[in-house]
Amino acid sequence: MKALVILLDGLADRPAPELGNKTPLQAAQTSFLNSLAKKGINGLMFTLSPGLAPSTELAHFTLLGYDLEDFPGRGLLEAWGEGFEVDQDEVVIRGSFVSVAKESCQFFIKKRVPTFEEEELVELSNALKPYEKDGIALKFIYNSQRQGLLYLKGKVSSEITDSDPFFPNLPVLKVKPLVKAKDSLSARRTAQMVNEFLTSSYKSLSTHPINLKRKDPLNFIVTKWAAKVPSSFVKFPDKFGLKGAMIASSKMLNGLSQLVGLDFFQIKKKPASADLYSKIKLALKKLEKNYDFAFVHTKAPDEAAHLKDPKKKKEVIEEIDKALAQLPLKRWSQQNLLVITSDHATASRGELIHSGEPVPILMVGKMTGADKVTSFDEFVCASGLLGHLRGKDLMPLILNYLDRINYAGATPYPDQKICRPDLNLIEPLKAQK
Ligand SMILES: [Zn+2]
Repeated sequence: MKALVILLDGLADRPAPELGNKTPLQAAQTSFLNSLAKKGINGLMFTLSPGLAPSTELAHFTLLGYDLEDFPGRGLLEAWGEGFEVDQDEVVIRGSFVSVAKESCQFFIKKRVPTFEEEELVELSNALKPYEKDGIALKFIYNSQRQGLLYLKGKVSSEITDSDPFFPNLPVLKVKPLVKAKDSLSARRTAQMVNEFLTSSYKSLSTHPINLKRKDPLNFIVTKWAAKVPSSFVKFPDKFGLKGAMIASSKMLNGLSQLVGLDFFQIKKKPASADLYSKIKLALKKLEKNYDFAFVHTKAPDEAAHLKDPKKKKEVIEEIDKALAQLPLKRWSQQNLLVITSDHATASRGELIHSGEPVPILMVGKMTGADKVTSFDEFVCASGLLGHLRGKDLMPLILNYLDRINYAGATPYPDQKICRPDLNLIEPLKAQK
């Protein structure tokens, strides 16, 4: 048996008055998803824990079976996903050009996406020269679309805060060491160095000839997601005994695949529903060959929710349902395991970016049987057999329904893996000669 996980990013939501107090998923016509729910077992899942609003990267990290304390920081996933290298003694931070206004010695973000030519952005980046201070070397590398990476090398720590406030109507934040930082001195120095870079880059950028002629100058770099390469990391195939593929478009998920050891595949960019159809087709092909596990991701519901338009999100979900209905998923799941779920709720109502409601999950396969749930949504799935899960429950459940979970109490592996003994992972005792 093989496992296919289809992840509909930001699928869950809150009830909206314009949808008769239903969520976009409840209001959408999703006859195919409902028919899968009927054939399988269902539940709700808090990917982190109840009420917490997870980012995509943290939700995916935990869904793939990893502890959050081992998360290296999103900056690393972005750097790797964009093809940049990061050394063991470096901290890498996402730095984005924004337009700020200086008001009583504070910086307020006015615009995040003023239109600039790429050559102009390269020229602005060239004004930000590398430098070294107190044994820490700093450089800013521009990539594209206003995004770059800030590298700090030496005795540095990634345990620092973001300067990007994320939420509107707030000033750019002072970067600080985390309270829990293991090396508080390095964290303090790293934070100080970033703060100096931010204020000095404002000076260089705001007086740059390219910016002087613009109404909305790109005069600031905001930072977020400081990260470091982990000193050790157990890869997915070694952790679960599954050869896995990730089929997605996001560069961050490309970086995550590199971190956890999933092979990353992309398809040519297409409209949302055609994109998902092609990704699943490719996943089924990979599973037919030598892969045991495939993870397919679509960003479409999340993107629709960020428009704060529940009706648009409902339409996107209906398109997804139609795309899924064209695939041989029912037949495939009779001999395998199909999982459909999401990483978090993206609230198309209210002021949150993501929100803390649970996401629905369905599992349908050779070993699952069926519960009494007849529709796939954030409310009805609550009465399903899977109950209320956490994201970290996903991989053990998948191993169980693939008949690959270990017998708890048997200890075949020194690192106490949860998968059952596998010829590729055990070491047989050799007979004496
Ligand atoms: Zn997400």
